[in-house]
Amino acid sequence: MAQSKIHEEDDRRSCWVCFATDEDDREASWVRPCRCKGTTKWVHQSCLQRWIDEKQKGNSTTKVVCPQCNAEYLIIFPRLGPVVYIMDIADKIIYKTCPFVAGGIFIGSVYWTAVTYGAVTVMQVLGHKEGLNVMERADPLFLLIGLPTIPVMLILGKMVRWEDYVLRLWRKHSAKLPLLHYLFPDEFSRYTRVPADTVPLSDPICATRVLCGALILPTIATIVGKLMFGSVQSNFQRTLLGGIAFIAIKGVLKIYYRQQQYFRQANRVILDFPEESINPPQTSESH
Ligand SMILES: [Zn+2]
Ligand SMILES: [Zn+2]
Repeated sequence: MAQSKIHEEDDRRSCWVCFATDEDDREASWVRPCRCKGTTKWVHQSCLQRWIDEKQKGNSTTKVVCPQCNAEYLIIFPRLGPVVYIMDIADKIIYKTCPFVAGGIFIGSVYWTAVTYGAVTVMQVLGHKEGLNVMERADPLFLLIGLPTIPVMLILGKMVRWEDYVLRLWRKHSAKLPLLHYLFPDEFSRYTRVPADTVPLSDPICATRVLCGALILPTIATIVGKLMFGSVQSNFQRTLLGGIAFIAIKGVLKIYYRQQQYFRQANRVILDFPEESINPPQTSESH
């Protein structure tokens, strides 16, 4: 009784994709892939395969659900042979590890660039021969850690904005020192307005500028040392003096420049609107 009922229902199968029934194609294989009843219960294997292909858009691991009842289709693949299985696993491992390997290569190249830069700087600061001697005598482990810290320390040092602190102190206390009033009389007499705090004290830190400035500092220090302290015999002392002199001079100039900009800001004046422009040109002609 029950069996004949199922048979009756199966006789009236129709595919919800192509609407063909058993009578239209007796050979086709059928599947009922979800909870749906009635007209959307049955579908051709081949029709549903095509439909799933369209939904997956080439990614065979994407889950596909019935558009009516939201049940996930159970898709089973034939068992893989051992060779294909191993290749499949290897492929997945390579896919997952590649980003880490690439990251490692990138970090490694940055590290070795830093080591090379450190070695060049040591030779530049100590002199070619003495630098090589020092590095040959040093512990290799110490070099591998010490040399790359040279550019790092230069960059960190460059990020210390000591000029800002000096400038802030100057602005806070300069008005209280009578000597400064005497030395820069017009600065204080024209000093009428205090610019709002929203006006930035200095330009924001620019990454490329910090990087370039920091990495070129040893070269500049060597040049300034040779120009200003040529009589100093020791390469290291001469370069150190050159570096300190360069930073000090540059700092003073920067502070001067900022302070001038500050006074421009403080002493700006807003003008009256010019009278002629208020009246349109036609009326001024009629006068
Ligand atoms: Zn069909
Ligand atoms: Zn369904």
